[in-house]
Amino acid sequence: MKRIVVIGGGSGGVMFSNRMRGAFTPDEVEITVIERSEKHFYQPAFTLVVFDLDDPVNLMRPTKDLFFEGIKLIHDEATKIDAANNKVSTAKSGDISYDYLVIATGARLIFDEDPEGLKSALDKGTNTFNFYKLDGAIKLRDALKSLDGGTIVSSVCSMPIKCPAAPMKFIMMAEDMMREKGIRNKFKFIFTTPMPAVFSREPYASKLNSIFASRGIETVANFNPSEVDSDKGVLKDFGKKEVRFDTLTITPPHGGEAIIDNSEGVGDAAGWVTCDKNLMVSKKYSNVYGIGDATDFPTSKTASGIRKQAKVLVARLAADITGVPTKAAYDGEIICPMLTKNKRVMFAHFNYTEAISPAIESYANWVLKVHMLRPLYWNLMLNALV
Ligand SMILES: Cc1cc2nc3c(=O)[nH]c(=O)nc-3n(C[C@H](O)[C@H](O)[C@H](O)COP(=O)(O)OP(=O)(O)OC[C@H]3O[C@@H](n4cnc5c(N)ncnc54)[C@H](O)[C@@H]3O)c2cc1C
Repeated sequence: MKRIVVIGGGSGGVMFSNRMRGAFTPDEVEITVIERSEKHFYQPAFTLVVFDLDDPVNLMRPTKDLFFEGIKLIHDEATKIDAANNKVSTAKSGDISYDYLVIATGARLIFDEDPEGLKSALDKGTNTFNFYKLDGAIKLRDALKSLDGGTIVSSVCSMPIKCPAAPMKFIMMAEDMMREKGIRNKFKFIFTTPMPAVFSREPYASKLNSIFASRGIETVANFNPSEVDSDKGVLKDFGKKEVRFDTLTITPPHGGEAIIDNSEGVGDAAGWVTCDKNLMVSKKYSNVYGIGDATDFPTSKTASGIRKQAKVLVARLAADITGVPTKAAYDGEIICPMLTKNKRVMFAHFNYTEAISPAIESYANWVLKVHMLRPLYWNLMLNALV
């Protein structure tokens, strides 16, 4: 009997654990998941909530209801990994030993460092918002409804972030919303990015540039926010540039979880789990694996990527346990549905080396993203059926 411990019961923790449970009996493999939260959120629909395209009640399920029978769920905070001695410390449940460890701790949103003033601006909630959390998405939805003019800014603080397209989706959808309301001429739309351009991968980058240009959405590139002054409505950057706003949505810096910093040899300086980008195994420990947003895989942090990673990880662990070799490897594939305007979505679908889909906006993609992906996630993806 092999003991697998999984830290984190988000998208990666559930997709991996259920698929692994399906591949081995409880007599062959014991699976223990350590998850601190009793609630699991379907994060890809937070952007939809902002535009009233989904109801928040559809986006949360109790974590305990998501795991297959035969998986042990411990609701606790994992505090430290002692990878040299194959054990994880927890806040309340003592030390838990493993033969294999899967780190699925996701990404942490950092509100209390740079830009200065971010937390207080968000707490005030008058003109500064963040839709990377569900309550923030609801506040932004309500604020957008009553706007009748001004400058709307979507700002990305640093990379990497979850779903790097989400802040762009927001600005394109907000522009379209005001156009449909007949008040587009009363607004200015600005997207700021720390990157040299709106998007890095072709052919999607060229397509987005032409959408932004044709719809008058301004881009401020190489912009690294240093301070939010919500009273004056000014966002400053470290290079002394300034962007004025009436309504700001800001995507905060992301980093790895504290447990990665507390644990010798598993992460880098930003707290991302350092793994082989194809084999998903830790660069230092051969029985430690990473999955999802927690890792330093050089691809976008998305649930779509995690669906692929879960299959690879189960195949690789199965090979290790049975001794039958596998060629399974993660190629960096992700699919990012970009809402460009009402009833139009473009899929950015690529892997580490190449684009897989053309840069086309379509209604069929809209139907898939807005009406089908959430039920697919709850019913099929989490249950290892696709
Ligand atoms: C606004 C937004 C839009 C998005 N849009 C898309 C999209 O269109 N398509 C797409 O595919 N993806 C999208 N994503 C990204 C997608 O939601 C994430 O990539 C995915 O959910 C990450 O899964 P994960 O398991 O790595 O992390 P999470 O699902 O965040 O889970 C991590 C879990 O680990 C737990 N945890 C962390 N540390 C500890 C600890 N020390 N002890 C115990 N438990 C711990 C946390 O409580 C959490 O439950 C979007 C995300 C956001 C925020």
